[in-house]
Amino acid sequence: MTTQVVFSDEFNKHDTADHPENADRLYVILDAVEQSPLYKKLTFVTPVMLPETLLYEVHSAEMIQRVKDASESGDAWIDLDTYVCKGDYETARLAAGGVLQASTDVIEEKAKNAFALVRPPGHHASAKRSMGFCLFNNAGLAAHALAKKHKRILIFDHDVHHGNGTQEIFYARKDVMYQSFHLSPHYPGTGAPSEIGEGDGTGYTINAPLGYGVGDDAVSLLLDTMFLPIARQFKPHLIIVSAGYDSHHADQLGGLGLSVNLFGEIVRRFQTIQPNIVCTLEGGYNLQWLGKCFLSQLGELVGEPQAFPDPVHGSGDVAELLKKMRQELNDYWAL
Ligand SMILES: [Zn+2]
Repeated sequence: MTTQVVFSDEFNKHDTADHPENADRLYVILDAVEQSPLYKKLTFVTPVMLPETLLYEVHSAEMIQRVKDASESGDAWIDLDTYVCKGDYETARLAAGGVLQASTDVIEEKAKNAFALVRPPGHHASAKRSMGFCLFNNAGLAAHALAKKHKRILIFDHDVHHGNGTQEIFYARKDVMYQSFHLSPHYPGTGAPSEIGEGDGTGYTINAPLGYGVGDDAVSLLLDTMFLPIARQFKPHLIIVSAGYDSHHADQLGGLGLSVNLFGEIVRRFQTIQPNIVCTLEGGYNLQWLGKCFLSQLGELVGEPQAFPDPVHGSGDVAELLKKMRQELNDYWAL
């Protein structure tokens, strides 16, 4: 079995050139992978569109109609920073379909693991609202479809922004766990340690808001003492990584101060819990670094780790945060 990369040129129909979330993002990633020795080890797959029935199980009819209408007229802004291009109803369903396809292939052992190289991103799209560059929730739709087949899914989100949409969709569910670290205060303003889920889902949402420039060591400590121990106890059948590279220190929308190599390290550590991993592209806007961030994670998926010179020193101390998270989560997990 090989590592699968899901990609389609169709994703780049979703384009507004001067918007940070533009088609160049996928072009620089593809350039980087084509020049990499990893390229020969990959299986490229073209995605199929997500069925409309699944879309309606996760998103409201009003929200779907709004994207549909904007997609027919073309080039419409759905909020201050989220645009819809002509044909985006299909393009966004293709992105979500890509993550579902990769996830299904990994679960069914048709692929070792996968990277869904999709646009537009998804983690801000909530049940009722497209927002923050995201039209539909790609990772959430895939997780929902597999949870219906009695699979436990962990979504780990390392984007600099909190994935409010993913959190909200699964807030009262225990079949899909959502874990996130993110910069705070920052867009969209959610993701406090006290947000741990509700009802059946209490304890199944894990949030670590971090300060500016916190760096690799702090995140590494959080992984070892919080995210990974909880993931181990949750025993997921599949891990979907919401791979947002705007947490890299050079990202113009970021500020967490992480090095490129930490992204690979995250995948490496989660592989010890469950090797069935699908990464899906969320944010990340620095075109000089995006390709390297992607290769760092791809190398771990393929089994040929890539390291890049990227010295950066974090300033973060997460002792207080860990204390707070333990207080919130101690009743649900052995920490
Ligand atoms: Zn982001």
